[in-house]
Amino acid sequence: MNKYTIKDFNKTFPDDDSCLEWLRNYIYPEKIVCPTCQKPTKHHRITTKKVYGCDYCGHQISPTAGTIFDHSSTPLKLWFYAIYLMSSTRCGISAKQIQRETGVTYKTAWRMFNQIRSLLQEGYKPTQGEFEADETYIGGKHTRAKEVVAQRIKLRYSV
Ligand SMILES: [Zn+2]
Repeated sequence: MNKYTIKDFNKTFPDDDSCLEWLRNYIYPEKIVCPTCQKPTKHHRITTKKVYGCDYCGHQISPTAGTIFDHSSTPLKLWFYAIYLMSSTRCGISAKQIQRETGVTYKTAWRMFNQIRSLLQEGYKPTQGEFEADETYIGGKHTRAKEVVAQRIKLRYSV
């Protein structure tokens, strides 16, 4: 496989919206089953927020809920960029380097560093443009798939 470069990364993830869209598609590989009306729908993006709304009842789903990106004021693109940096460097990079590359504070960089490191240890590799999603669950039970994925990408806040 060719090396996944920063150019590839920027093409896949040009902005926060594309990161969110990617996350949505990863967590919900097919349609989203609305927890309120129980209908499987595509859901539409609510542009002012990081959420998607049910096409029928308007119930909102947040792809970042339960993930390391939840409750973070750091833009998704920076998170993804930090993941890219950490997963594409064989020897690994430090929290200090993340701070320098992304422009976040050291405290934030340190928190990101720890959370991403745990993710990577669990085999989360977004820089390939795809995750090794559990194939057994794809195409079947959405709720189960979401649980599994959410567990895999969920991390405790360690700061
Ligand atoms: Zn609904």
